[in-house]
Amino acid sequence: MATTVAAMCGAAEERVVGTHKAPGACPRCGGAVVATDVESERRILCLPLCVKSKRKYSCSRCLRRLVTLYS
Ligand SMILES: [Zn+2]
Repeated sequence: MATTVAAMCGAAEERVVGTHKAPGACPRCGGAVVATDVESERRILCLPLCVKSKRKYSCSRCLRRLVTLYS
């Protein structure tokens, strides 16, 4: 009998904590820049290993990612 083992290790869950306005404008269309705080949780065998929070920047009009601008 074959049992299916789900791949549960190494999965990272990302959760949006909140969004807020960021200073500056999109270089492409001039739209407002939005900062998104994301919490990513890495689990190994259902045990929470570490929680990292990072901030992503993107344009609210053309949805372009603006990571390189604020790194
Ligand atoms: Zn834009």
